[in-house]
Amino acid sequence: MMNRTALVLTASLLATGAAFAWDVEHDEVARLVGWALPQEIKSFFAFEDFDILLQYCHFPDMTDTEPRRFHTLDDIEAVVGRRDRDVIDSRGFFPIWMHTEDGKATFMTLLARAFARGERHNAAFYLSVLTHPVSDESALNHPPLLGFFRYSKLPGIDFTMRKVEEGAKNVFGFRSDGHVVHLVRERMKGYVPQVPAGSLEDALLSFGVEVAVIHGAKTGEIEGAIAFASQHEAERALVDLVYRQVCALEDIVWTLRARRPRRSIAAGEES
Ligand SMILES: [Zn+2]
Repeated sequence: MMNRTALVLTASLLATGAAFAWDVEHDEVARLVGWALPQEIKSFFAFEDFDILLQYCHFPDMTDTEPRRFHTLDDIEAVVGRRDRDVIDSRGFFPIWMHTEDGKATFMTLLARAFARGERHNAAFYLSVLTHPVSDESALNHPPLLGFFRYSKLPGIDFTMRKVEEGAKNVFGFRSDGHVVHLVRERMKGYVPQVPAGSLEDALLSFGVEVAVIHGAKTGEIEGAIAFASQHEAERALVDLVYRQVCALEDIVWTLRARRPRRSIAAGEES
Protein backbone atom coordinates (compact mmCIF):
# COMPACT_ATOMS: atom_id res chain seq x y z
CA MET A 1 0.00 0.00 0.00
CA MET A 2 1.25 3.49 -0.74
CA ASN A 3 2.33 5.52 2.24
CA ARG A 4 1.15 9.10 2.71
CA THR A 5 4.31 10.70 1.27
CA ALA A 6 4.10 8.58 -1.85
CA LEU A 7 0.44 9.47 -2.24
CA VAL A 8 1.13 13.21 -1.92
CA LEU A 9 4.04 12.93 -4.38
CA THR A 10 1.93 11.01 -6.88
CA ALA A 11 -0.89 13.52 -6.56
CA SER A 12 1.45 16.48 -7.11
CA LEU A 13 3.11 14.81 -10.12
CA LEU A 14 -0.29 14.16 -11.63
CA ALA A 15 -1.29 17.77 -10.98
CA THR A 16 1.96 18.97 -12.59
CA GLY A 17 1.34 16.81 -15.66
CA ALA A 18 -2.17 18.12 -16.07
CA ALA A 19 -1.13 21.74 -15.61
CA PHE A 20 1.66 21.49 -18.19
CA ALA A 21 -0.12 19.55 -20.90
CA TRP A 22 0.52 21.23 -24.24
CA ASP A 23 -3.10 21.31 -25.24
CA VAL A 24 -4.75 24.28 -26.92
CA GLU A 25 -1.41 24.97 -28.60
CA HIS A 26 -1.80 21.78 -30.67
CA ASP A 27 -5.16 23.05 -31.93
CA GLU A 28 -3.57 26.35 -32.88
CA VAL A 29 -0.67 24.74 -34.76
CA ALA A 30 -3.15 22.53 -36.68
CA ARG A 31 -5.32 25.57 -37.44
CA LEU A 32 -2.31 27.59 -38.65
CA VAL A 33 -1.16 24.68 -40.83
CA GLY A 34 -4.58 24.41 -42.50
CA TRP A 35 -4.80 28.16 -42.95
CA ALA A 36 -1.31 28.48 -44.51
CA LEU A 37 -1.60 25.54 -46.95
CA PRO A 38 -0.87 26.51 -50.56
CA GLN A 39 -4.02 26.89 -52.65
CA GLU A 40 -3.12 23.85 -54.72
CA ILE A 41 -3.26 21.67 -51.61
CA LYS A 42 -6.29 23.40 -50.16
CA SER A 43 -8.22 22.67 -53.33
CA PHE A 44 -7.37 18.95 -52.98
CA PHE A 45 -9.31 18.90 -49.72
CA ALA A 46 -12.99 19.53 -49.25
CA PHE A 47 -14.09 22.10 -46.73
CA GLU A 48 -15.12 19.41 -44.21
CA ASP A 49 -11.60 17.97 -44.22
CA PHE A 50 -10.44 21.01 -42.30
CA ASP A 51 -12.53 19.88 -39.34
CA ILE A 52 -10.47 16.69 -39.39
CA LEU A 53 -7.29 18.76 -38.97
CA LEU A 54 -8.50 19.77 -35.53
CA GLN A 55 -10.20 16.48 -34.73
CA TYR A 56 -7.06 14.30 -34.63
CA CYS A 57 -4.30 16.73 -33.63
CA HIS A 58 -4.17 15.21 -30.10
CA PHE A 59 -4.43 11.62 -31.36
CA PRO A 60 -0.98 10.37 -30.31
CA ASP A 61 -1.72 11.36 -26.68
CA MET A 62 -4.20 9.83 -24.26
CA THR A 63 -7.82 10.86 -24.58
CA ASP A 64 -8.93 13.73 -22.35
CA THR A 65 -12.18 12.15 -21.31
CA GLU A 66 -12.52 9.44 -18.69
CA PRO A 67 -11.67 6.62 -18.78
CA ARG A 68 -8.48 8.01 -20.31
CA ARG A 69 -6.79 5.71 -22.80
CA PHE A 70 -4.46 5.70 -25.77
CA HIS A 71 -5.90 5.37 -29.25
CA THR A 72 -5.69 1.90 -30.73
CA LEU A 73 -5.20 0.37 -34.15
CA ASP A 74 -8.97 -0.19 -34.23
CA ASP A 75 -9.51 3.55 -33.73
CA ILE A 76 -7.13 4.25 -36.61
CA GLU A 77 -8.74 1.64 -38.86
CA ALA A 78 -12.13 3.25 -38.25
CA VAL A 79 -10.77 6.40 -39.91
CA VAL A 80 -8.39 5.14 -42.62
CA GLY A 81 -9.51 1.59 -43.34
CA ARG A 82 -8.00 -1.88 -43.19
CA ARG A 83 -5.26 -1.49 -45.81
CA ASP A 84 -3.54 1.41 -44.01
CA ARG A 85 -4.14 -0.23 -40.64
CA ASP A 86 -2.13 -3.24 -41.85
CA VAL A 87 0.76 -0.96 -42.89
CA ILE A 88 0.77 0.72 -39.46
CA ASP A 89 0.47 -2.63 -37.70
CA SER A 90 3.45 -3.96 -39.66
CA ARG A 91 5.60 -1.11 -38.27
CA GLY A 92 5.13 -2.38 -34.71
CA PHE A 93 2.48 0.09 -33.50
CA PHE A 94 2.27 0.76 -29.75
CA PRO A 95 0.43 3.51 -27.81
CA ILE A 96 2.96 6.36 -28.14
CA TRP A 97 4.40 5.10 -31.45
CA MET A 98 2.93 8.05 -33.38
CA HIS A 99 5.39 10.30 -31.49
CA THR A 100 8.41 8.29 -32.65
CA GLU A 101 10.60 8.87 -35.70
CA ASP A 102 9.26 5.66 -37.23
CA GLY A 103 5.68 6.71 -36.49
CA LYS A 104 6.15 10.11 -38.12
CA ALA A 105 7.94 8.63 -41.16
CA THR A 106 5.19 6.01 -41.60
CA PHE A 107 2.44 8.63 -41.38
CA MET A 108 4.32 10.82 -43.88
CA THR A 109 4.57 7.87 -46.27
CA LEU A 110 0.86 7.14 -45.87
CA LEU A 111 0.08 10.82 -46.44
CA ALA A 112 2.01 10.70 -49.73
CA ARG A 113 0.05 7.58 -50.74
CA ALA A 114 -3.26 9.21 -49.76
CA PHE A 115 -2.35 12.16 -52.02
CA ALA A 116 -1.53 9.73 -54.84
CA ARG A 117 -4.80 7.86 -54.44
CA GLY A 118 -6.87 10.99 -54.07
CA GLU A 119 -7.98 9.93 -50.56
CA ARG A 120 -8.80 13.34 -49.09
CA HIS A 121 -10.20 12.05 -45.82
CA ASN A 122 -7.17 9.87 -45.06
CA ALA A 123 -4.76 12.62 -46.10
CA ALA A 124 -6.46 15.05 -43.69
CA PHE A 125 -6.21 12.46 -40.90
CA TYR A 126 -2.47 11.87 -41.41
CA LEU A 127 -1.77 15.58 -41.62
CA SER A 128 -3.82 16.23 -38.48
CA VAL A 129 -1.96 13.57 -36.50
CA LEU A 130 1.44 14.74 -37.83
CA THR A 131 0.91 18.30 -36.58
CA HIS A 132 1.06 16.85 -33.07
CA PRO A 133 4.46 15.10 -32.85
CA VAL A 134 6.13 17.70 -35.09
CA SER A 135 5.16 20.46 -32.65
CA ASP A 136 5.70 18.21 -29.61
CA GLU A 137 9.39 17.90 -30.39
CA SER A 138 9.92 21.60 -29.85
CA ALA A 139 7.06 22.24 -27.44
CA LEU A 140 7.93 24.13 -24.30
CA ASN A 141 5.58 22.42 -21.89
CA HIS A 142 8.15 20.69 -19.74
CA PRO A 143 11.63 21.90 -20.65
CA PRO A 144 14.55 21.68 -18.22
CA LEU A 145 14.77 25.38 -17.32
CA LEU A 146 11.13 25.50 -16.42
CA GLY A 147 11.59 22.40 -14.30
CA PHE A 148 14.60 23.98 -12.58
CA PHE A 149 12.79 27.19 -11.66
CA ARG A 150 9.68 25.40 -10.61
CA TYR A 151 11.38 23.02 -8.23
CA SER A 152 14.46 24.92 -7.07
CA LYS A 153 12.37 27.71 -5.53
CA LEU A 154 15.20 30.14 -6.24
CA PRO A 155 14.58 33.19 -4.04
CA GLY A 156 13.26 36.22 -5.86
CA ILE A 157 12.10 34.40 -8.96
CA ASP A 158 8.61 33.07 -9.26
CA PHE A 159 9.16 31.74 -12.73
CA THR A 160 5.94 29.80 -12.97
CA MET A 161 3.97 32.99 -12.54
CA ARG A 162 5.63 34.58 -15.53
CA LYS A 163 3.75 33.76 -18.67
CA VAL A 164 4.82 35.02 -22.07
CA GLU A 165 1.19 35.51 -22.89
CA GLU A 166 -1.18 36.68 -20.18
CA GLY A 167 -3.90 34.11 -19.57
CA ALA A 168 -2.13 31.21 -21.29
CA LYS A 169 -2.53 27.92 -19.46
CA ASN A 170 1.12 26.94 -19.93
CA VAL A 171 3.99 29.16 -18.80
CA PHE A 172 5.46 28.96 -22.29
CA GLY A 173 2.15 28.44 -24.02
CA PHE A 174 -0.09 30.76 -25.97
CA ARG A 175 -3.76 31.51 -26.30
CA SER A 176 -6.05 30.88 -29.26
CA ASP A 177 -6.95 34.56 -29.44
CA GLY A 178 -3.56 35.89 -28.37
CA HIS A 179 -0.79 37.96 -29.91
CA VAL A 180 1.54 34.99 -30.58
CA VAL A 181 -0.91 33.26 -32.94
CA HIS A 182 -1.62 36.59 -34.63
CA LEU A 183 2.11 37.28 -35.17
CA VAL A 184 2.79 33.76 -36.51
CA ARG A 185 -0.10 34.16 -38.95
CA GLU A 186 1.27 37.51 -40.14
CA ARG A 187 4.71 35.99 -40.61
CA MET A 188 3.34 32.98 -42.50
CA LYS A 189 1.75 35.18 -45.17
CA GLY A 190 3.43 34.49 -48.49
CA TYR A 191 5.49 31.59 -47.12
CA VAL A 192 6.66 29.36 -49.97
CA PRO A 193 7.08 25.72 -48.86
CA GLN A 194 10.41 24.09 -49.54
CA VAL A 195 10.98 20.63 -51.04
CA PRO A 196 14.22 18.91 -49.99
CA ALA A 197 16.33 17.48 -52.82
CA GLY A 198 16.18 13.78 -53.65
CA SER A 199 13.63 11.01 -53.31
CA LEU A 200 10.70 10.62 -50.90
CA GLU A 201 12.97 8.59 -48.60
CA ASP A 202 15.58 11.40 -48.63
CA ALA A 203 12.84 13.88 -47.74
CA LEU A 204 11.61 11.74 -44.82
CA LEU A 205 15.13 11.59 -43.43
CA SER A 206 15.65 15.29 -43.87
CA PHE A 207 12.38 16.13 -42.08
CA GLY A 208 13.26 13.73 -39.27
CA VAL A 209 16.58 15.52 -38.75
CA GLU A 210 15.03 18.97 -39.04
CA VAL A 211 12.24 18.35 -36.55
CA ALA A 212 14.13 16.25 -34.00
CA VAL A 213 17.64 17.73 -34.14
CA ILE A 214 17.51 21.26 -35.55
CA HIS A 215 14.24 22.24 -33.87
CA GLY A 216 15.38 20.55 -30.67
CA ALA A 217 18.61 22.58 -30.59
CA LYS A 218 16.76 25.79 -31.39
CA THR A 219 14.27 25.08 -28.62
CA GLY A 220 17.13 24.90 -26.13
CA GLU A 221 18.22 28.42 -27.14
CA ILE A 222 14.69 29.74 -27.22
CA GLU A 223 13.90 28.41 -23.79
CA GLY A 224 16.77 30.49 -22.42
CA ALA A 225 15.58 33.56 -24.30
CA ILE A 226 12.09 33.16 -22.92
CA ALA A 227 13.32 32.53 -19.40
CA PHE A 228 15.70 35.48 -19.12
CA ALA A 229 14.75 38.03 -21.76
CA SER A 230 12.24 40.86 -21.62
CA GLN A 231 8.56 40.10 -22.17
CA HIS A 232 8.83 41.45 -25.71
CA GLU A 233 11.85 39.31 -26.60
CA ALA A 234 10.25 36.29 -24.96
CA GLU A 235 7.18 36.75 -27.14
CA ARG A 236 9.33 37.06 -30.25
CA ALA A 237 11.19 33.87 -29.34
CA LEU A 238 7.91 31.98 -28.89
CA VAL A 239 6.63 33.30 -32.23
CA ASP A 240 9.84 32.11 -33.86
CA LEU A 241 9.41 28.64 -32.39
CA VAL A 242 5.80 28.21 -33.52
CA TYR A 243 6.63 29.71 -36.92
CA ARG A 244 9.31 27.02 -37.40
CA GLN A 245 6.85 24.28 -36.47
CA VAL A 246 4.21 25.49 -38.90
CA CYS A 247 6.76 26.04 -41.72
CA ALA A 248 8.11 22.51 -41.23
CA LEU A 249 4.58 21.12 -41.52
CA GLU A 250 3.91 23.19 -44.66
CA ASP A 251 7.17 21.86 -46.17
CA ILE A 252 6.18 18.30 -45.22
CA VAL A 253 2.74 18.51 -46.85
CA TRP A 254 4.02 20.26 -49.96
CA THR A 255 6.85 17.76 -50.37
CA LEU A 256 4.68 14.68 -49.85
CA ARG A 257 2.27 15.95 -52.49
CA ALA A 258 5.16 16.66 -54.88
CA ARG A 259 6.88 13.32 -54.17
CA ARG A 260 3.74 11.17 -54.02
CA PRO A 261 4.17 7.77 -55.70
CA ARG A 262 3.47 7.97 -59.42
CA ARG A 263 3.27 4.29 -60.27
CA SER A 264 0.04 2.56 -61.13
CA ILE A 265 -1.33 2.81 -57.66
CA ALA A 266 -4.78 1.80 -58.81
CA ALA A 267 -3.29 -1.65 -59.36
CA GLY A 268 -1.84 -1.54 -55.86
CA GLU A 269 1.73 -1.65 -57.12
CA GLU A 270 3.21 1.05 -54.93
CA SER A 271 5.84 0.04 -52.45
ZN1 LIG B 1 2.13 14.31 -27.47
